[in-house]
Amino acid sequence: MRHAAALLGIYLAVVLLPLGLSWAQDMPPRAFRQELASGLGMLAYAVILTEFLLSGRFRSISGGIGLDVTIRFHKLIARIALAFAVLHPFLYRFLPGPPRPWDTTRELTLTTDFTALASGIAAFVILPGFVLASMNHDRLGYRYENWRFLHGIGALILAGLLWHHTVSAGRYGATAELFWYWTTMTGIAAFSLLFVYVLKPLEQMRFPWRVRAVERLCNRHWRVSIEPVGHDGIRFKAGQFVWLNIGHSTFSLRENPFSISSAPSQGPDLEFLIKELGDFTSSLGQIEVGTRAYLDGPHGTLTVHGRSEPGIVLIAGGIGIAPMLGILRELEATQDPRKASLIYANRTQHQILFAEELAHYAKQEIAEVIRVVSEPEADWTGETGFVSRELLRRRFDDDRFAKWLFVLCGPPRMLIALQEALLSLGVTPDRILVESFQYD
Ligand SMILES: Cc1cc2nc3c(=O)[nH]c(=O)nc-3n(C[C@H](O)[C@H](O)[C@H](O)COP(=O)(O)OP(=O)(O)OC[C@H]3O[C@@H](n4cnc5c(N)ncnc54)[C@H](O)[C@@H]3O)c2cc1C
Repeated sequence: MRHAAALLGIYLAVVLLPLGLSWAQDMPPRAFRQELASGLGMLAYAVILTEFLLSGRFRSISGGIGLDVTIRFHKLIARIALAFAVLHPFLYRFLPGPPRPWDTTRELTLTTDFTALASGIAAFVILPGFVLASMNHDRLGYRYENWRFLHGIGALILAGLLWHHTVSAGRYGATAELFWYWTTMTGIAAFSLLFVYVLKPLEQMRFPWRVRAVERLCNRHWRVSIEPVGHDGIRFKAGQFVWLNIGHSTFSLRENPFSISSAPSQGPDLEFLIKELGDFTSSLGQIEVGTRAYLDGPHGTLTVHGRSEPGIVLIAGGIGIAPMLGILRELEATQDPRKASLIYANRTQHQILFAEELAHYAKQEIAEVIRVVSEPEADWTGETGFVSRELLRRRFDDDRFAKWLFVLCGPPRMLIALQEALLSLGVTPDRILVESFQYD
């Protein structure tokens, strides 16, 4: 919570700084409407520049508030920036008459220099298409990697156009302080792409991995294990995830996020549980043992490490069991004294993964295991239906809702319903950790 508050404070300071710097210029006042137009334009540009750092790739940001929150904020703020940017030119009132050379502070005259306006017009045309395409990229039918590439290039072009427009057409943008603010911020934005797409891949080349095993667990689920080559692996916390690239150059955009289902205490090798979904996950069977792999990570905040609550409730839907297994394995390996419960929901009983291992945790009292199936067969003995408020109420006492930590991972709809249920049962937001496997 403190990390989130600090980040929000820094964010507001960075985004509002150009308004403060403009105000401090002490230029002759203009009509409110003109100032509002400039203010909205500057806010839109500042917000767009911060979006580069809210891509989920920077651990100092998403490591504190979580990937989900980072991406949701990124998407929300993009819409706000779009609204401000689109509104801003319409608020200006163009005063009739010839250019006034004596009006050096542009109190009465807006620039009529076409070059300065052209970059703004180009950005004005591109921005709505860019935001709309990003919002609907999954429906547009092009590959995730291609979308990611185009998103990065498009954002860079926009930042360049907006820089030119702001420092050449803006009333305040040409002043020394604002010029340096916009140039530095645009430089940081461009550097963030360089960092993610060039510097990080160069670093990854020094820490290669190799595929140790690929195993089909059931119909559409796989277990993939990798081992470090010539290094000690990564330091991570149980429940975290990495971006995994198997069989491609470190500069390739073909990498996907997967939770680590092994525990840090089990050694440097990493295990992933993967459900087939699209291009990459459906081709896991073709990966050969020994194939080179690379990682970006660890990332993520779905971890019980360092939490002080007396007990933990893990709730997994389907493949959401992956990080939970990592957490359970770590609880066992470290003989963690905290009590734990696992609610594991699936559509059918045949989709239940690691049934024997889970039975072992129940037997060893590492975690009580509650299995839930929505389409049970006649011999099913566990819970039936969905994980609901009613089920939680029936299985847990008030003490648990008042004191324990709740860790959720599963389909987005299940996560939303469960968070609502938990809040209504008195669980405070700081005791609910959530990881959605789908954030865009
Ligand atoms: C934090 C996190 C942890 C995850 N952990 C697991 C796990 O342990 N096991 C598991 O089976 N699945 C996990 N997923 C989901 C997994 O990443 C996707 O199923 C996988 O990337 C799909 O890739 P594809 O090429 O097969 O399908 P595609 O058709 O290419 O992609 C389908 C969807 O997967 C998502 N996706 C694809 N590539 C990326 C990417 N590079 N970055 C972000 N999202 C992407 C997008 O939503 C995309 O629309 C996790 C997702 C996230 C965000």
